[in-house]
Amino acid sequence: MSESIKEKAKISDLFECQKCGHCCHGETTVSLDADDQQRMILSLGMYEEEVREKYWRVNGSVVQMKTKDGHCIFYNKNIGCMVHTGRPWRCCQWPLHPSILTDEINFETIRNSCPGINKNLKYEEFRSILQRIIDEQEEYTY
Ligand code: SF4
Ligand code: SF4
Repeated sequence: MSESIKEKAKISDLFECQKCGHCCHGETTVSLDADDQQRMILSLGMYEEEVREKYWRVNGSVVQMKTKDGHCIFYNKNIGCMVHTGRPWRCCQWPLHPSILTDEINFETIRNSCPGINKNLKYEEFRSILQRIIDEQEEYTY
């Protein structure tokens, strides 16, 4: 490969999920927008009413996943996310949140809470690779 051709930035340069489940713990979960809801229903192969009843906590227009034993109902300690292909977009994006590009304090907070983040990179290096990934890819999910 010519030296002038830059290799594509890779998510694995920044992060590799350790499946620790930290981001799936807590008494609330991320909210699901309309696309998330449809994707999850399709992925589970169930009727919407069943999914709503079994897996969602609905409060007015806010739809979140139920929690069980202090974590998202879909989290399994042996498998990780049991609805991986149908998970909400906010779960897909974590921990490479675009706010990292402008907020070093937020970067530090995320870095301290996610053991999958490459700890060898300084903020500016991390930021620059993330910017390239966002510029080069329509979606960046792991
Ligand atoms: S906190 Fe990070 S390493 Fe742990 S499961 Fe979540 S994304 Fe993966
Ligand atoms: S949907 Fe999956 S990735 Fe998102 S919080 Fe639940 S278990 Fe974690």
